[in-house]
Amino acid sequence: MPRVYNFSAGPSMLPQGVLRRSADELEDYNNTGMSVMEMSHRSKTFMAVYEKVYAKLRRVMDIPDTHEALFLQGGATLQFASIPMNLMKGHESADYAITGFFSNKAYVEGQKYGGARVALSTKSSDYTIIPLQSSFTVDPKAAYFHYCHNNTIFGSRWPYMPETENVPLVCDMSSSILSEPVDVSKYGIIYAGAQKNMGPSGLTVVIVRRDLMGNALPYTPSVMDYAAQSQGESMVNTPPTYGIYLLGLVLDWLENLGGVTAIEKRNREKAKLLYDLIDDSNLYRASIAADSRSMMNVTFNLGNVELDAEFVKQAAKRGLVSLAGHRATGGIRASIYNAMPIEGVRALCDFMKEFEFDYGK
Ligand SMILES: *Cc1c(COP(=O)(O)O)cnc(C)c1O
Repeated sequence: MPRVYNFSAGPSMLPQGVLRRSADELEDYNNTGMSVMEMSHRSKTFMAVYEKVYAKLRRVMDIPDTHEALFLQGGATLQFASIPMNLMKGHESADYAITGFFSNKAYVEGQKYGGARVALSTKSSDYTIIPLQSSFTVDPKAAYFHYCHNNTIFGSRWPYMPETENVPLVCDMSSSILSEPVDVSKYGIIYAGAQKNMGPSGLTVVIVRRDLMGNALPYTPSVMDYAAQSQGESMVNTPPTYGIYLLGLVLDWLENLGGVTAIEKRNREKAKLLYDLIDDSNLYRASIAADSRSMMNVTFNLGNVELDAEFVKQAAKRGLVSLAGHRATGGIRASIYNAMPIEGVRALCDFMKEFEFDYGK
């Protein structure tokens, strides 16, 4: 079977070059006679892999010395609990911006470990917008302000960085990390599950301002304690070794393309092809307000569920797969993360034009 264009929201496509290199090295990594999967995480060979990936991530994201980078497990979902456990001490509550499915999950989890306040919610507009800064307030006593940069399910993206004064900004970047430059110095915490833009599931990257570490609530499991993980080089227990190695290959691929500035340009171009087609069409309707649209998850629908289903079915026959929207929203979602080549987006656009010719009015 030839490779398909996979529009899955996650786990999602990896660059073909990364898959090939990992296959080449699968059984014999760097003349060790074993796979990276098979070696001790404390071995010299793996420690060298780890140090390189750590340095590469810092370089690609331009992470300042004020911030630590951790390679953990448990997905973004475990961070919904780790964040309050590490940051809540000495505070009565934290602020949450609810602009979609995962930011709401983060809020619900946050309530278990301290007070959680809804600073804003866009539920009443079905999560189709991102509100202006002037429409909400930040509690100056909040332990942190949590938001989700790119709402994977609804297909929206914060077009600006919220201003929170001295309240640490905490951001779930699971579906947008490495897709555009980010000023890491402005954040208290940036975290992401790897399976959208960084590698396979099982690895979670957490970037945390060093002065926010070391204040975990007493019952915090040590694998969730940022200070303990930082001291132990993310090896309080066995880290997701193969995921870390694959992240290294993805970062090599990204650096060869020109890094986050170059990939942002490519991502903008890819998203524009789709949104322009949707906006010019009589059949397709974009789900999200024009100023808040995601570059990674393009959501739209065809006005009725049967037609949406027919679209997904016919697209799959052309090797354009996983286009069905999330079960919570229905419709269509084309996830076009970093690894989706522009040719894949062009192929989808060609199919959409033909489908409109056949089914549009
Ligand atoms: C996928 C996703 C999650 C959930 O990640 P897990 O690794 O499954 O815990 C959380 N937030 C966002 C924005 C996501 O896209």
